[in-house]
Amino acid sequence: MTALRPEIADPQPDTGVDERGPGPIDLHESIATLFASRGEWRKAYLHLRSALDLVYADQVEEPHVPEQLRREVDRLRREHAEAREQSLRDSLTDSYNRRYLDQRLMDLLTEHGACRHGLAIALIDLDWFKQVNDTFGHLLGDRVLQRVVELLQDGLPEGAFCARYGGEEFVLVLPRVDAASALEVAEAARERVERHPWHEIAPGLRVTVSAGLAYEPPADEAPERPAVSAEQQLLRADSLLYSAKQSGRNAVAYRADGRVRLAGAASGRRAIAQTRAPDYC
Ligand code: GH3
Ligand code: MG
Ligand code: MG
Repeated sequence: MTALRPEIADPQPDTGVDERGPGPIDLHESIATLFASRGEWRKAYLHLRSALDLVYADQVEEPHVPEQLRREVDRLRREHAEAREQSLRDSLTDSYNRRYLDQRLMDLLTEHGACRHGLAIALIDLDWFKQVNDTFGHLLGDRVLQRVVELLQDGLPEGAFCARYGGEEFVLVLPRVDAASALEVAEAARERVERHPWHEIAPGLRVTVSAGLAYEPPADEAPERPAVSAEQQLLRADSLLYSAKQSGRNAVAYRADGRVRLAGAASGRRAIAQTRAPDYC
């Protein structure tokens, strides 16, 4: 929102900062902005009206801002920040949700984003999860999903995050990594899930995940490569996930030199399903 008074929006450098902090006009305007961002138009209007009244009163010296008004602004700002954070989280697992994923990927894949640095996306799907629900019940299935997220998030490099893609599928986004470290991170996450003592939750319970890892190198390493969209990179990860499932599950599939390969211990498996890259590889 444009500030109502030009001297507040764009203070002259030589006037210095007002050490008394924001005046009542600014505070009414802030409150109006917060209410408007929550769709509470009537309340937003009333505060905007109050701000305008003060402007029209043409006050040269602003009166002291009541403490109560200041506190209300602080409370609204806090609530607004919390509500925004909650709107980006998945309610069951507390991982980031699809909305956050879409926003972040769009930012990362813009011209000036991560593709200057390399970006890896691992699409991760729990193996035979329907059987887990069928055997141990849906509530225990929910607990498994929560634990899997904790394990996936554990030890991610700085800047990386985990988001729930939907159902029992998650995405690890690893910005600013090279291909080898992306593979290490994804394989370590898979291994953490495999090695977790699941039998402590329920005797006989075993949980593994499969993953498809799509890596986009930095633009200056592969200048001839066309720019990739988030959707294309997710499609490539999905196709690799399919290979991992077809190759026996509990594995991370990735593409190197045009061929699908499996990371770590699974690399020695005899049959590695080759799927065609959906666009380019
Ligand atoms: P695959 O190894 O091929 O992925 O087999 P799968 O059994 O994991 O795959 P399938 O798509 O057949 O089943 C996925 C199951 O995930 C079915 C669905 O009920 C379960 N699921 C999805 N979301 C949730 C959830 O929030 N909680 C629980 N408990 N189960 C969920
Ligand atoms: Mg699935
Ligand atoms: Mg599954």
